[in-house]
Amino acid sequence: MHDLKERLHSAGVHTLLVQFTDLHGTAKGKLVPLHHLDDVLTTGAGFAGPSIWGTGLPRTGARAEYFARGDGPTARPIPWMPGVARIVGDGFVDGEPFEACPRQVLRRALARLAERGWQLRTGIEPEFFLLKRAANQWGPADDTDRLDKPSYDLKSLHRQQDFLHDLAAALGACGLDVLQVDHEDAHGQYEVNFAYADAMASADHLMLFKQAAHTLAEARGTVFSMMPKPFANQPGSGMHFHVSLWDGGRGVFDPGPKDRLLSQTGRHFVAGVLAHAAALTAIAAPTVNSYKRLTVGESLSGTTWAPAYVAHGPNNRTALVRTLPGRFEWRLPDASTNPYLATAALVAAGLDGIDRQLDPGPDCTDDLFEMPPGLVRERGIALLPQTLATACDALEANPVICAALGPTLSAEFLRLKRAEALDYARHVSAWELDRYVSAF
Ligand code: GLU
Ligand code: MG
Repeated sequence: MHDLKERLHSAGVHTLLVQFTDLHGTAKGKLVPLHHLDDVLTTGAGFAGPSIWGTGLPRTGARAEYFARGDGPTARPIPWMPGVARIVGDGFVDGEPFEACPRQVLRRALARLAERGWQLRTGIEPEFFLLKRAANQWGPADDTDRLDKPSYDLKSLHRQQDFLHDLAAALGACGLDVLQVDHEDAHGQYEVNFAYADAMASADHLMLFKQAAHTLAEARGTVFSMMPKPFANQPGSGMHFHVSLWDGGRGVFDPGPKDRLLSQTGRHFVAGVLAHAAALTAIAAPTVNSYKRLTVGESLSGTTWAPAYVAHGPNNRTALVRTLPGRFEWRLPDASTNPYLATAALVAAGLDGIDRQLDPGPDCTDDLFEMPPGLVRERGIALLPQTLATACDALEANPVICAALGPTLSAEFLRLKRAEALDYARHVSAWELDRYVSAF
């Protein structure tokens, strides 16, 4: 404890940013002077519980207080706030780990793996938009970002290099190993990849990435957006998870001599992820806007690259699960996903697949984006829920995923997300007025 304070002090830190994540995947927290580090590590920084989305805590009594207890090794100076170090907090209430804190939810899931001697590693790949609002319309921050197929566009990448370099440098200074930065397939869309890590560290990294990107974009007069689908005719933002399981130095998903890409355990895990796909959709596509991404159909660039069908296939980016040697890519999550909850739900699905020895079925090698819907149905390939409301129904009906989230968090998730879906359903859009106002 003393060492940590000394280390931070000699790095010029005078203040801690004690950060936690709410149900919606938004970073929250408060500033605490460094000399109170001991309190942060033992009791935690205190917050009014009901003021945080998803806690379901009462307004009075001992359980009204939510404490974010700092996880020492996560403390890092953050270059975009000189003199400040971010420390990630775990939720505690009344002296006990708080069951509905997303980081505690993930801790529980990882503990279930640890009982079997396993560690999960994830590589989370955020796609995002850099936008601005002009004449009451949202568009790319860069007006000249207009190619029909904008993937890997170097010209626009170059125009945003100040922001992208600063972002990569800031993440690097916080200990993330940035692997690549590119222009994605929509106007104003980019992707930053950093090295895979232990699943908890990856979720913490993702939250750090969002904090850095918001601040650095705002300083340049642009808006950093993790909205899943800002533009109807262009691809949305996914947040794919590369997933591998480890037993010390041994990859549990590594194929044996008779396997193709994944071990038998890996295939069972994937089968669990497919079997629970509908319930997982609520967690990994958690906004009404998410469902504009998860549809079948073309985009301006030719394809959306977002999954709509419950299938898996070797290096198949048109399926929900893309299998690779010793790991798989879970392509369902979008950029609005809470990384802690998504990882925890994924673990529950995978473990169920292993425990019930589920079979994922044959590899899908077809381009599902091209396959006629009739043929998809004939093959028995299910479509993902197409609305937030139906995904919530699937989650509520799924005891495996609800148990992983815990009773408070699953009830709060369903309550908030159903309210969001209802609010949206009641909204009368410009599209409806244009289409119907004088049509009948
Ligand atoms: N933007 C696509 C999505 O929404 C993914 C593109 C890619 O494969 O990188 O999932
Ligand atoms: Mg991408």
